[in-house]
Amino acid sequence: MIDLRSDTVTRPNEAMRQAMYQAEVGDDVYGDDPTVNALQALICELTGKEAALFLPTGTQANLVALLTHCQRGDEYIVGQKAHNYMYEAGGAAVLGSIQPQPLDMADDGSLPLDKVAAAIKIDDIHFARTRLLSLENTHSGKVLPLEYLKKAFEFTREKGLALHIDGARIMNAAVALDVPLSEITRYCDTLTLCLSKGLGAPVGSLLVGSKEYIHRANRWRKMTGGGMRQSGILAAAGIYALENNVQRLKEDHDNAKWLEQQLRGIGLEIAVPGAQTNILYVRQSAEQAAKLGPWMREHGVIISSGPLTRIITHINISRQDLQKVVDLWQRFLTNQA
Ligand SMILES: *Cc1c(COP(=O)(O)O)cnc(C)c1O
Repeated sequence: MIDLRSDTVTRPNEAMRQAMYQAEVGDDVYGDDPTVNALQALICELTGKEAALFLPTGTQANLVALLTHCQRGDEYIVGQKAHNYMYEAGGAAVLGSIQPQPLDMADDGSLPLDKVAAAIKIDDIHFARTRLLSLENTHSGKVLPLEYLKKAFEFTREKGLALHIDGARIMNAAVALDVPLSEITRYCDTLTLCLSKGLGAPVGSLLVGSKEYIHRANRWRKMTGGGMRQSGILAAAGIYALENNVQRLKEDHDNAKWLEQQLRGIGLEIAVPGAQTNILYVRQSAEQAAKLGPWMREHGVIISSGPLTRIITHINISRQDLQKVVDLWQRFLTNQA
């Protein structure tokens, strides 16, 4: 099956499985797993941060990040459609008594700083205490401009806020900008990233920040059930991913750009034109969307067909696969006409 629903569907290849099989392990709750420690050291090197923590999922990494930044009755400013506001089951509010202050995102995924400034609460007993600005990079495949990140970081210094980046796909951003990851992460206090998306590892996310911050985060990881034992087996996949699967993300981006052109060529409407990374959105009528999904599946293609259909390219999708998808889609449209 050609599965275009997400880059989370990627499967570990033989070499990654070998690395997992051969991983040296220990009990990571004691800090004794050499492979987890090596992965954490590697991401510190790549981000220029002091310390890191390996966690099972991006959702848990974001939750632990928020729990570490904010106390009960604090708030974080976040995008209306950000993952750590909208798609994490309200974890920060439910489990941390942390109030989100959502704001509309601009088309490029940024939060306009004048709007952020207006949302910061003054010190008054009526208000929650604004502690944190949380940005997402990439968001819907859009890369935050470095110039914006720099301004946002300086802004948070002036306002006494911390800056967190939900960088589930931050490596896609670094590859799209053709800069070292540290060029992006210099403009944040903390960062989460997923190894289990385009990077192709089966499981795992990372939280990075200062030594002092990660020391406190480690308690929250334990409390939320994320303290794993011989997790070096999983971390080995993460190391393999960071060493072998980063630069190849460019292929996914090129594929998304190519697919965008092809789909436009057969008359489809691209919702947010100009794919920067590995995500595309196609707009279609609800009626057509309802037919397309099952039809594609019959022909070996899985897509989340809806009025706004998200398509994600990844390591298990080749240009040939995409050619097949274009041909099928064209046939589908011809049949409909
Ligand atoms: C996928 C994703 C997450 C969460 O990762 P999981 O590992 O699926 O829990 C967080 N933020 C963003 C932007 C994501 O795309």
